[in-house]
Amino acid sequence: MEENKAKNILVSGGAGFIGSHLCKALINLGHNVICLDNLFTGSIKNISNLKNNKNFEFVNHDIIQPYFRKNIHEIYNLACPASPIHYQFNPIKTIKTCTVGVINMLGLAKSNNAKILQASTSEVYGDPNIHPQNEIYNGNVNPIGKRSCYDEGKRCAETLFMDYYREHKLKIKLVRIFNSYGPNMANNDGRVVSNFILQAITGKKLTINGDGNQTRSFQYIDDLILGMIKMMNSNDDFIGPVNIGNPKEISINKLAHTILRLTNSKSKIIYNDLPIDDPKRRNPCIVLAKNKLNWSPVYKLEDGLLKTINYFKKINEIN
Ligand code: NAD
Ligand code: UDP
Repeated sequence: MEENKAKNILVSGGAGFIGSHLCKALINLGHNVICLDNLFTGSIKNISNLKNNKNFEFVNHDIIQPYFRKNIHEIYNLACPASPIHYQFNPIKTIKTCTVGVINMLGLAKSNNAKILQASTSEVYGDPNIHPQNEIYNGNVNPIGKRSCYDEGKRCAETLFMDYYREHKLKIKLVRIFNSYGPNMANNDGRVVSNFILQAITGKKLTINGDGNQTRSFQYIDDLILGMIKMMNSNDDFIGPVNIGNPKEISINKLAHTILRLTNSKSKIIYNDLPIDDPKRRNPCIVLAKNKLNWSPVYKLEDGLLKTINYFKKINEIN
């Protein structure tokens, strides 16, 4: 019932990869969407199809600064660079976004009595010792490494959400997103799927870090968006954290060969050093999402990759 009523929904980080798909999906559901973004890694191009929609508003704003607005019903907090090269570019800023920025968004939710969802991450599990990772696993995170600004920042954000829930009875939702991919990833995003696709379609060498035996589990963007919206619309007593990801695990080597095959590319592969603290395996347990949200991913990797390959060919004008 509740999900059918038009609401005023604020999406921070709405001009980014995931945020732009979320804004579009929420508009298509009939809601009014306010997209708050400082355009650090996001782009106006990602939301160009929405900018003339009367139910959509873009606000250029950095969430490290307070934001005041009335009449907000829901907030999706996505603002934060997500790719290792971008979150490590200015690590102190990344931590501020995950702490000061999150406090500002929680304050906005509190003043509006709005429900707020945090885009948390599988990185809260660090380099995990158990497989697959379920939500009761507390993780294996290095607090002093180069990834820590993001991993510990996101862990602190979850802590802040829980404290606002316990102290102020705020309606919160914690979603731990596993590696996601799809159209609207930036050319310079730096994550593995976009890197390999771009390298394959431009005839450059595919850059595998380490021996390529490390694994990830990749989910297509449409599956993720459905999971996030289902979580927001679930009963208030289900606050998470809940894993949203595709449990099909694949090595980075296999991903490289799959992308070479799907693009008919003759690109070669080179092996670079594995970055420090790069997780060796990552795989979500999604039993909780299945039981509580009646959600599970439907996209097969190859189908999602083909859509993403088409997108990158189009934006780079490659036939
Ligand atoms: P993205 O970099 O494409 O999008 C992040 C957006 O936030 C960008 O538009 C950026 O400009 C904006 N932003 C960054 N700092 C900001 C600030 N201080 N104030 C306002 N806007 C700011 O990344 P994404 O992949 O779309 O990720 C979105 C969210 O989902 C992030 O919070 C990320 O941690 C989380 N997440 C993503 C993945 C994934 O696989 N893509 C996995 C786990 C978690
Ligand atoms: N990776 C790679 N080549 C690249 C980019 C990434 O081999 O050009 C590896 C990276 O070291 C990691 C995996 O691919 O082992 C996933 O990296 P990504 O940055 O996409 O996500 P995350 O490490 O945050 O899961």
